[in-house]
Amino acid sequence: MSLLDRIRPDLAGFTPYASARRTGLLAPVRLDANESPGPAAGDRAGLNRYPAPQPPALLAGLAALYGVEPDQIWAGRGSDEAIDLLVRAFCRPGQDSVVSVAPTFGMYAIAARLQGADYRTVRVGGDVGFALDADALLAATDADTKIVVLCSPNNPTGTVHHHLVADLATALAGRALLLVDEAYVEFADVASAATLLGRHPNLAVLRTLSKAHALAGARIGCLLAAPELVRLVGAIAAPYPLPAPSVQAALSALEDAALAATQARVAEAIAERERLSALLPGVPGVERAWPSAGNFILIRCSDPGACFQRLLAAGVLVRDVSAQPGLAGCLRVSIGLRAENDRLLQALGMERAA
Ligand SMILES: *Cc1c(COP(=O)(O)O)cnc(C)c1O
Repeated sequence: MSLLDRIRPDLAGFTPYASARRTGLLAPVRLDANESPGPAAGDRAGLNRYPAPQPPALLAGLAALYGVEPDQIWAGRGSDEAIDLLVRAFCRPGQDSVVSVAPTFGMYAIAARLQGADYRTVRVGGDVGFALDADALLAATDADTKIVVLCSPNNPTGTVHHHLVADLATALAGRALLLVDEAYVEFADVASAATLLGRHPNLAVLRTLSKAHALAGARIGCLLAAPELVRLVGAIAAPYPLPAPSVQAALSALEDAALAATQARVAEAIAERERLSALLPGVPGVERAWPSAGNFILIRCSDPGACFQRLLAAGVLVRDVSAQPGLAGCLRVSIGLRAENDRLLQALGMERAA
């Protein structure tokens, strides 16, 4: 059974909006899209024209970066958009389910809820380093489960689950999509699950330029998947999902010099993460700091409210995740610049940042 047989039956034969740019036709006089024939004052980028739905140069650059073919990529407004579109494509409201881990990134639950799909989770606990039991995850699925989402490294725990991907994809073959969210994989010492795409047609991988590539403001992320899945997502997506200035920013980020700078930034973030991981457990009020493969660290404080307020009063904002399942007392700290991390340590009462 092909995974495409599992999409919402009412979407079979869905006809996408026939936008002017979808035809691929170009002519010197373009009177096909009700655009302004001339630019706005001060515009040198030709923003009076609608952008290409999926600019070929961008797809080629992302394909080279991620080691896939251009027809295995759909690029959108951040990976969040791809999550939303996949849930909408597969899940029948009131009937189908999305299965994931708890705690994890909050957008999976939001996307499921907006679609009226059931959202089920399997708990991972800090006492065992947030390790995941693949059998427990599979046991939470049933005949109406359409998507299993695995965030690796997981946000906010920092745990890598990549070693489970191949077995999970095999176990879910033909019945559910295994969606691996690799938003932080650049900070982890693990190969992308995209290397397994050829062997598992029900596997899809999310990548983003928002974290390692320092382009959160540009909103560019992508889905790496089998070409038929990529075509499906493209068919149900907005006609012009990628703003031209964001495409420009992404193309700049894909140039050699920019990629080298990204590598240096990632190396710096990893070094700072390891420095903080070593120092944080010795800080007053910090009970535990879990090892992380992301650009953040999860810590548990004896009094998380007081810790959060003390940091805020010192001008340092962290994320209070203590309300998430299994994360009582926990805060998530993003890795900043060295001076910013020193400020965090000082605010927490560390005598002198090493
Ligand atoms: C930050 C983050 C993303 C990135 O989302 P974008 O929409 O691409 O900015 C995706 N997944 C997780 C788990 C994240 O933490």
